[in-house]
Amino acid sequence: MRTHVTIIGAGLGGLTLARVLHVHGIPATVYEAEPSPAARAQGGMLDIHENNGQPALRAAGLLDAFRGLVLEGREATRVLAPDGTLLLDEPDDGTGGRPEVLRGDLRQLLLDSLPDGTVQWGRKVSRVRPLGGGRHEVAFAEGGTVETSLLVGADGAWSRVRPLLSRATPAYSGTSFVETYLYDADTRHTAAAKAVGDGGMMALAPGKGIQAHRESGGTLHTYVALRRPENWFAAVDFTDPGAAAARVAEEFGGWAPELTALITDGETAPVLRRLHALPAAHRWDRVPGVTLLGDAAHLMVPSGEGANLAMYDGAELGGAIAAHPEDAEAALAAYERELFPRSAAEAVEAARLHELMFGDDAPHGLIDMFTGHQ
Ligand SMILES: Cc1cc2nc3c(=O)[nH]c(=O)nc-3n(C[C@H](O)[C@H](O)[C@H](O)COP(=O)(O)OP(=O)(O)OC[C@H]3O[C@@H](n4cnc5c(N)ncnc54)[C@H](O)[C@@H]3O)c2cc1C
Repeated sequence: MRTHVTIIGAGLGGLTLARVLHVHGIPATVYEAEPSPAARAQGGMLDIHENNGQPALRAAGLLDAFRGLVLEGREATRVLAPDGTLLLDEPDDGTGGRPEVLRGDLRQLLLDSLPDGTVQWGRKVSRVRPLGGGRHEVAFAEGGTVETSLLVGADGAWSRVRPLLSRATPAYSGTSFVETYLYDADTRHTAAAKAVGDGGMMALAPGKGIQAHRESGGTLHTYVALRRPENWFAAVDFTDPGAAAARVAEEFGGWAPELTALITDGETAPVLRRLHALPAAHRWDRVPGVTLLGDAAHLMVPSGEGANLAMYDGAELGGAIAAHPEDAEAALAAYERELFPRSAAEAVEAARLHELMFGDDAPHGLIDMFTGHQ
């Protein structure tokens, strides 16, 4: 028997699962809320790791194609002091093992690897209900339902599938990012471009930081981090981009102008990204016919692992389903047995990294980590 798998969410996790199932000849449909692949900018660079993201791509048969997407030289890392002094400079010598790609390129690679019609766009799940015997009915916001005997929630932080398994909901982490972009920085924003260097740059102090990454074509993508309660951000008028950028920059008074330029010279409206997390030990008892992967299962503060883990989950789940073609419950149990300790360990590590970056000792703990003193 080849169970048809119903996947909610066409993020990197859901698409990796669909692809690995396809490699094993198992049919799947992915229902995605967004109306089309181009509906939302898939900004941001992702470094894809040797222990999770890369094995997932190997299982998907896409490792070689992935290598063609890598932006060379972007693994360089530097840490600056608020006054612009260089505290740590690690050039990309090609040995880092964490190649950088654009998230949109990676998603497109996965989309192109699936049979036409696998992803059903514009199908926002509004409700899921158990029908008994491991079967579920999935209802869509625009009307219509489907029934399935194997349902996977790959629908991210605010998963509609998760309540079938767990009562946990993400809690505000105490930190938010504000996202900005500078374009053609080598000619138009030269001081900022020089400060960022060839890859990633972090300027950190207790409770705040400016992190930027060089993307393709001289694009600088910045996450400004502020440890502030949600009501602090609620008082900033993000509908007025200039005023919002100025208000955020005010929190960096006295910082080097080449760093604050990443905020004040932003060429896109600053976007607020509130960071939430599920409890590190989040898990659930086996419920027939349904499981979760990626952020839906283990949302954590950004640590450079979330997308890697989502892809790894997808590959592991796909492999487990293929290994137990007659017994979906055995597949889900085997997958979850590994998922829970793996996710818990990563969530603890993500919280530790977050503290090193934005805690009272910032940036010294992070530098010690990079230099092997911790
Ligand atoms: C600011 C920031 C920076 C980050 N940087 C990195 C990084 O550098 N490296 C890294 O590895 N990770 C990073 N992460 C984490 C990473 O983005 C996530 O962990 C990863 O995207 C999770 O993948 P996913 O497939 O589980 O979920 P998602 O990528 O969230 O995909 C879920 C999909 O489900 C769809 N969906 C949601 N609800 C519904 C619904 N009701 N019906 C149908 N479809 C639905 C969504 O539209 C989406 O396409 C970062 C996160 C943040 C917030």
